[in-house]
Amino acid sequence: MSILSRMRKTSLSYRLLAGVVLGSSAITFIITIFSIVRIYQHGLERVESELKQIETLYLPGVTQSLWDLNDEHVQLNLNGIINLGNIKYATIESASVITHSAGQPTTGDSKEIKLPIVYHQGKNFYDLGTLTAVASLEGVYDEILNQVVFDFFSSLFKTMILSAFMLLLFHQVLTRHLMSISKFLRDNSLSDYTKLPKLRLHRALGTQDELTTLTQAINEMRFEIAEQLKHRNKAEKDLRKLNASLETEVKRRIKENADQQVILQNAARLSSLGEMAGGIAHEINNPLTIISGYVGMLRKGLTPPGLPAQKLDYIGERIDTTIDRITTIIQGLLRLSRDTQKEDFRIQSLNPIVNDAIALCREKFSSKGIELKLDISEEELLCPCKPVEIGQIIINLLNNAHDAVEFDSSPWVELSLQTHDGQLALSVSDSGPGIPEHIKSKIVEPFFTTKPAGKGTGLGLSISRAIAEKHNGRLFLDESVSNTRFILELPLSKN
Ligand code: ADP
Repeated sequence: MSILSRMRKTSLSYRLLAGVVLGSSAITFIITIFSIVRIYQHGLERVESELKQIETLYLPGVTQSLWDLNDEHVQLNLNGIINLGNIKYATIESASVITHSAGQPTTGDSKEIKLPIVYHQGKNFYDLGTLTAVASLEGVYDEILNQVVFDFFSSLFKTMILSAFMLLLFHQVLTRHLMSISKFLRDNSLSDYTKLPKLRLHRALGTQDELTTLTQAINEMRFEIAEQLKHRNKAEKDLRKLNASLETEVKRRIKENADQQVILQNAARLSSLGEMAGGIAHEINNPLTIISGYVGMLRKGLTPPGLPAQKLDYIGERIDTTIDRITTIIQGLLRLSRDTQKEDFRIQSLNPIVNDAIALCREKFSSKGIELKLDISEEELLCPCKPVEIGQIIINLLNNAHDAVEFDSSPWVELSLQTHDGQLALSVSDSGPGIPEHIKSKIVEPFFTTKPAGKGTGLGLSISRAIAEKHNGRLFLDESVSNTRFILELPLSKN
């Protein structure tokens, strides 16, 4: 690459060039103004001295020639006047009439002199007229123009020579070194900081100037950055190791936490089922009493004369129905006490889950005289869920409603299962006193309970809400009604 084309690429050279051209143009401009003023003043002085010369050189001759009435001599004098450099026109006027003239009147800028022609004879003065001479300033202007043109071209030439010289010098002294510094920095990035070549400029040995300082500073800076990079990479490696072990630890803790949550959830569910235990025992005991009654009847009937076949059928049917009732309760209990960890999400109708929960609670409610109102959709409402977990929510809500109304004068609890806004909405309302304003925000916190020790764990609502969220649904207190009403919303499945 030639020096010039390399120089062209560096904007520093362009700026230097622009600086030189501007600077020298400004200086030339100022010098030219001064020289114009100077030439103009000299020109004027010259014109004025020519005009003055007329008075001393020609006025006496003109006066004498006029007195002698020697027109030829007068004309010769006038011709002599207009030959004086800038004087272009000369006239002699007598009584406002031009009697003699030489040259042509000028049109441009001019200066003129009027001299009275007086002839002295003894003590007498004779007014012979006026000698007028007009000098044109065109000569002065031409001189100025010539000077400006000369100044312009000579300074243009000087500027060109100076610029070329400066550019060359600038390139030799600075730009080529700057360019090799940037090339060195580009070619020797610090990505491989183990190799650290030194920046060296091609200059005469022992040269000491700002570029030497810059080179040293760059080398020192690169060395320091390389050191920092070494440290940083080591720190990064350590950090990665630490991260990896932290990640394993976090995963282990998450798993431990998840396991604990499952244990807690199962414990809470078993605890809520435990709350039903009295009712369930009663619920099973009743049909067993019925069965035992019928068995007694059968025993008696088996001894002669025996029961009529019709009566036997009736007793058998009642025993079957009663056993079915017990089976339903026990199966519901079994279903709701299964370990949910191994349970998968599946599309499931919510109606049997609700029925299981009701079957388990019914006796507990009726033993306290609590009316259990049901508003369950006849249509099967399907939802992707873990049935045992949904059953756990329902039992929690029913248990809480039960506890809230058990001492009411005419208590009721209503369970509704309907669709609402394309969602599945299961709500449990009760006739209880409601939830005091100051604890509303706390009731879903884990371990928050207002129940006496041994009765409440404070986990029911927090676990129920977590289950609802895991099912992409939500559990919330419906504050738009005056009774206490919890709503469980779940996504409805179209299958
Ligand atoms: P626990 O029932 O074990 O106390 P929960 O998380 O199920 O735990 O309930 C937390 C608290 O919320 C209850 O102690 C009670 O104060 C309040 N609560 C829940 N449901 C109702 C309700 N239907 N009526 C009044 N208060 C309720």
